[in-house]
Amino acid sequence: MNGKVYLIGAGPGDPELITLKAVRLLQTADVVLVDDLVNPVLLEHARADARIIHVGKRGGCQSTPQAFIQRQMIQEAQSGNTVARLKGGDPFMFGRGGEEIEALREAGIDVEIISGITSGIAAPATLGVPVTHRDWAAGVTFITGHSREGNEVNWAALAAARTTLVIYMGVKHLPDIVSQLLAGGLAADTAALAVQNGTLVEQREVKATLSTLHAAMQVAEIASPAIVVIGAVANLAQIATHTASVAKAA
Ligand code: SAH
Repeated sequence: MNGKVYLIGAGPGDPELITLKAVRLLQTADVVLVDDLVNPVLLEHARADARIIHVGKRGGCQSTPQAFIQRQMIQEAQSGNTVARLKGGDPFMFGRGGEEIEALREAGIDVEIISGITSGIAAPATLGVPVTHRDWAAGVTFITGHSREGNEVNWAALAAARTTLVIYMGVKHLPDIVSQLLAGGLAADTAALAVQNGTLVEQREVKATLSTLHAAMQVAEIASPAIVVIGAVANLAQIATHTASVAKAA
């Protein structure tokens, strides 16, 4: 009989920001396929005899092609193994969870999604920024700064949308994104924020404006993985004073 695959959200980084359901299922897995944005501490929840396979796409390692990851999940499930596919944040937020579920369904493998806390909400939240504060935004738009060819973001339309913009994978193309938003009519002094390693003890952040954000990030050496927030809610960020409650080691 085929095993089952769980597409599990590991949360944004803080090892306490994972769901109870994720932990329970991790404990049942024979095989765990891990993305590199997943906090390695979470692997403590896996069984001691579970096989851990790192399929990261960054960190200097050679990237694992998506098709290979999908094939591996299918093969493991077909061998009768319970597979935990552990992904950073929420598995359906720019995590290719959509592609993976399609491939698994096509192969006739039972798959279940375990939602996670996404970095685009959690990283600004550490600074007290509610991305949908109704005094400052009509809503929030989650966008990738790294869109697929043929499916490019219409930045000019977003400039007019009056929603908070939360940009994932936005560091590399930030100068281009900023110029398109400015060209689309978004004010140069619109508040903006970047948070690197949000919710982790290594978290770093910078608050600026749309036109100064890129330079400010360079000065502060804020790099990927980072969430960029553009919109008036970014003004609410309490940078100097934010504190995190971290679990004490037993
Ligand atoms: N599924 C993930 C996003 C995957 S795309 C989620 O829901 O969070 C990868 C991008 O997510 C990174 O380039 C970065 O923009 C963002 N990201 C993930 N973890 C982050 C963190 N702890 N702090 C800041 N950004 C993070």
